Amino acid sequence: MNKRSIESLPLQGKKVLVRVDFNVPLKDGAVTDDTRIQEALPTLRYLLEKNCKILLCSHLGRPKGTVQSKYSLEPVAKKLSQLLGQNVLFVKDCVGPLAQEASNNLKEKEILLLENLRFHSEEEKNDPVFAKELGNLADYFVQDAFGAVHRAHASTSSVTKIIPSAIGFLVKKEIAALGKIVKSPEQPFLTILGGAKVSDKIEVIQNLSVLAETILIGGGMSYTFLKANGFGIGNSLLEEDKISFAKSLDGSGSKLKLPLDHIVTQKIEPGSKTLVTPDQNIQEGWIGVDIGPKSIQQIDKWISTAKTIFWNGPLGIFEIPEFSKGTIACAKAVAQATLRGAYTVVGGGDSIAALNACGMKGSVSHVSTGGGASLEFIEGKSLPGIEAIPNS
Ligand code: AMP
Repeated sequence: MNKRSIESLPLQGKKVLVRVDFNVPLKDGAVTDDTRIQEALPTLRYLLEKNCKILLCSHLGRPKGTVQSKYSLEPVAKKLSQLLGQNVLFVKDCVGPLAQEASNNLKEKEILLLENLRFHSEEEKNDPVFAKELGNLADYFVQDAFGAVHRAHASTSSVTKIIPSAIGFLVKKEIAALGKIVKSPEQPFLTILGGAKVSDKIEVIQNLSVLAETILIGGGMSYTFLKANGFGIGNSLLEEDKISFAKSLDGSGSKLKLPLDHIVTQKIEPGSKTLVTPDQNIQEGWIGVDIGPKSIQQIDKWISTAKTIFWNGPLGIFEIPEFSKGTIACAKAVAQATLRGAYTVVGGGDSIAALNACGMKGSVSHVSTGGGASLEFIEGKSLPGIEAIPNS
């Protein structure tokens, strides 16, 4: 993949529209995790050095084509101002007269954040007229929203037909880091997959079963595999219609490894009583909510010998502290593996939150900002938002 990069565009003093991924968590009108904003800074600083007039566009949440104040990007403009140490302007629409006027008034080295793209239903429809309005606000377009490039939307796809386009530094970094995993990962390559749904991860499991030596499955998705293997799973999460897929992967010498024991409870709530199962079976009336101590030991063992590790998805309902031990143990072990020289990539908001929770975010080789996009990259799919950028 050799996409045109931001550095090859003649951007000095120009007006540049940057698609960023500012889909950040908000509470009481304030940003609670600014990771995604931080990740956009290298591209923004570069454009400031080039004396550009900078327009930023992003989505936030799923307002589904309606204006909803809880999905406004205005708090993000404030956070970005703090991070950059300069005022960031904000305009209450991303197209139309308000946006056009704000763009016309923009001066060199000024930054203007446009309101949520998804307040217009045309964004997700990849509408060419909407894309034209957006693109016409600037001279050049830079795609730096890695978390959104697996979608063909107006701001990731059609806009590239309106003005000359390139990828920014974040997208470039993600392509290089994930590319290392899919091209020729150093073996042993260990993949750890968790999270709630098998259906989201079918294709990634299929592709990884070619690339990886071992695939550890944990979290809610593991019970469908355990059921397919004949174990009791009590009232744990199950996707009935994925049992046959789980069986189909389970041939002789399967690379798939399932938890050896579980933390179970009868109620998914903080403070509820938990037990450790003696083996892989879960009794009727109990729910698997985390991997157990034997599984943690097994994961530690696999991680300690791996040369490449890709981890996506929590190994339990880690939002509840009593059910978070497996995920936290995994985060620590992956960080330690990095220290001894393994190449480690972590993707997905929950796995990143687990790394954050134990203060280890900076301790892995690469943290991917795009959960869905990083999975699709590893599935070997072409990502519309990257495809849309011309080759260099
Ligand atoms: P995903 O979006 O598929 O990566 O799933 C993340 C979600 O999976 C998190 O909210 C976890 O709480 C949830 N999860 C992890 N383990 C379990 C489990 N054993 N039972 C139910 N949900 C789980």
